[in-house]
Amino acid sequence: MLKKSIKLLSILLFSFWTHAFVLASEAIHYQIEIDDSIHHQAKVTVLLPQIESSQMDVFIPNWRPGRYQQIPLANGISHMIAKSSQGKPLKIVKMETNHWRIFLEQPSKVELNYRLYANELSDRTRHIDSSHAYLDAVASLVFIPEFRSYPIHLDLDVPKGWKSVSGLKSGWNKNSFVANNYDELVDAPIETGVHEEYHFDVKGIQFELAIWGKGNFNGKNIAQDLAAIVKTHIDFWGNVPFERYLFIVHVFDKGRGATEHKNSSLIQTDSWSFNKRKNYLNFLQTASHEFVHAWNVKAYRPQGLVPYDYLQPNYSKLLWWVEGGTSYLGNLLLLRSGLMTQDEYFNHLAKAIYEYQNRPGRLEQSAADASFNEWIAPDGDRANNAFVNIYSQGKLLSLWLDLQLFQQTDGRASITDVQKKLYQQFPASIKGYTEQNLMDVFQSLGLKDAQKIWDSKVRNSDEMDFNQALKSVGLLLSHEIKTQDKDAQQETKATDKKMAYLGIKLAEKSENNRLEYVLANSPAWDAGITADDELVAINNIKITQANYQQVLQTLEINSRISVNYFRNGLLEQTSLKVGAQFEGKTKIIANPKNSTQQIQQLEKWLGVSLKKKMANKAEADNSEE
Ligand SMILES: [Zn+2]
Repeated sequence: MLKKSIKLLSILLFSFWTHAFVLASEAIHYQIEIDDSIHHQAKVTVLLPQIESSQMDVFIPNWRPGRYQQIPLANGISHMIAKSSQGKPLKIVKMETNHWRIFLEQPSKVELNYRLYANELSDRTRHIDSSHAYLDAVASLVFIPEFRSYPIHLDLDVPKGWKSVSGLKSGWNKNSFVANNYDELVDAPIETGVHEEYHFDVKGIQFELAIWGKGNFNGKNIAQDLAAIVKTHIDFWGNVPFERYLFIVHVFDKGRGATEHKNSSLIQTDSWSFNKRKNYLNFLQTASHEFVHAWNVKAYRPQGLVPYDYLQPNYSKLLWWVEGGTSYLGNLLLLRSGLMTQDEYFNHLAKAIYEYQNRPGRLEQSAADASFNEWIAPDGDRANNAFVNIYSQGKLLSLWLDLQLFQQTDGRASITDVQKKLYQQFPASIKGYTEQNLMDVFQSLGLKDAQKIWDSKVRNSDEMDFNQALKSVGLLLSHEIKTQDKDAQQETKATDKKMAYLGIKLAEKSENNRLEYVLANSPAWDAGITADDELVAINNIKITQANYQQVLQTLEINSRISVNYFRNGLLEQTSLKVGAQFEGKTKIIANPKNSTQQIQQLEKWLGVSLKKKMANKAEADNSEE
C-alpha cells in the first residue's frame, strides 16, 4: 500500500512538472513512457530548467561511443513539440537532420515532447518490443550542449512486470535512474523488460548479469564464467575504475557483436551459440574484450576521444590500439583465467596471422590511417584488398610490439605493462594520451627505436614478420594438415605441400556462385575476375557450391585453365594460370628444441604454465570446436 502511494505520488509530481522543479530545479528530467511497445515506440518528455536566452539548440548525436561510424540516429525522433512553463507552444525549427532550434519569447522553463521509434536491435542503439527495451541515450534522449554537465533524473514508465537495470545509480523508484551529467547517461544504457538476472561478487565488488532472449544458455554457468574472467582482470589491473558492473546479454536469432560502456557492456549473441565450444568460446572472448574496455577506452583513451564530441567524427590514429590492443589483452587474460585453453589461444593467434598474410590490404594501409579513417571504412572485397581492420590489425600489431618489447628487455617488460602505465598516467576524466605518449611509454619500458618502429609498422604498412618475432619466445609458425590415427582420433602433422590457388572466395549460400571477394594480385585478379562475378565453369566443368573444392584439388599448379562466369547477367570467359598456396592450416607450435630456460621465458610471456605436451612437442589438437 505504501509502495503504491509512493508511486502515485511520484506520478503526480511528474505530471505537474512545475512542482518537479521544486524538488531539483537544476536537473534535467527525462521521462520515457513505453506506450506502444509492440510497434517499437515510446513517448519522451524532457523538462528543462529556466532558459534565459531567446533560443535553444537540441540535438540527437550522430554516432555512439564504441562504434566509430556515423549513424542516422535522428531518424527515430519525430513529432517534437515544445512549450513554456505557462503551457504556451514554442516555435521549433529543424536546422539540420539531427538539430532542432527552439525559440523563446521570454525566459522560461521548457518542456519538450517527442515520439521515439526504436527498432535497431543489432545496432545496439535502441530497441523496443513487447518483451523489453534497450535504450542507449545517444539514440533516444536529446543532447542539449548547454546542459551537458547538468545532473539528470530519468524516469521510465514501462509495461507491468518489466524490470529495469543500468550502470546508472537508481533513482527514487525501481524504474528511475540518476546521472551526474549527459556523458554519464550516455555511458550507461538501460535494459528494461523481462530478463533473467544473476548477481555475483568478486573481491567485494558487485556484478550483475541480465540476459534477455531465448536460447540454449545456462545463466548460472555464464555468471560463473564471467566471475572467473572478472577475477583474472581485477588481479591483473590491481583495482577497478567503477563501483559496480553490469553485463547485459541479448540472445536472439543471428545476434552478434558487443559494445562497451563505463561500468556495463552489452553482448549480443545467437540463440543457439551456447553448446558448441567454438561459439561459446567466441562469447567468452567477447566478454573479456568488453571488460578490458572498462579500462582501455573508458578509464584511459586517446586524445581525440576526450571528451567525446557527439556531433562530429572523433578522430584518432590510435583506434587500432583501442580495439586491437583490447582484443589482444582480452584473449591473453582469458587464457590466464583458464577459460581458454593454450591450444585455443595459439589457434586464434595463428588464424589471425593467416588472415593477415592473406590480406592484400595489409601492405596498402597503415594501422594509424585505418584508425583515422574508421569513420568511412568500407567492408567486403574492397576492404580486404585495400585496407586493414583496426581490430585484427591492431591485435597483431599488439602481438608484434609485445614480442619486440619482451625480447628487447629479456622478458622484463611486456605490452601488459604498457596498458597498466597508461591506466595510471592518463585518466580519461582529465586528459587523453597521444601517439607520442604511447611511444614514450613503450620506450620507458625498454623498447628501443620506438620512433623507428612506429614509422615502419604503425604509420606505414611494412610487413610484420611473425616467423621471426615468434621465434624469440620459442614458438614456430607451421602449416599442418589433419590426419587420422588408428584410434580415429584427430591428429595433425606438419606439411610444406602446396595446393592449387585461384584467389577467390565463393559467397556462402549463394545460389549463383557469387564471388564474395577476389584477392588483389591473385591469379583470378590478374585474369580480370572481380567480386560479385558469378562463377559458372572451370575447364568446362559446371561449378557448384558442392563440387568447387573438389574441382580445385584436381587443378595442376601452374597449368592454364579456362573460366566462365556471369558479370551483370552477361556470360564472360577468360583463362588464368593456377597459383599455389600452403595446403595445411597455419599453426603456432612450441619449438621442440626449446631449452628449459626458453620454456620458462615462454611461460613468463604468456603468464601461464605450459602443458607438458605444448612445451615439449608440436601440439596436436586441430579442432576448432
Ligand atoms: Zn571493442
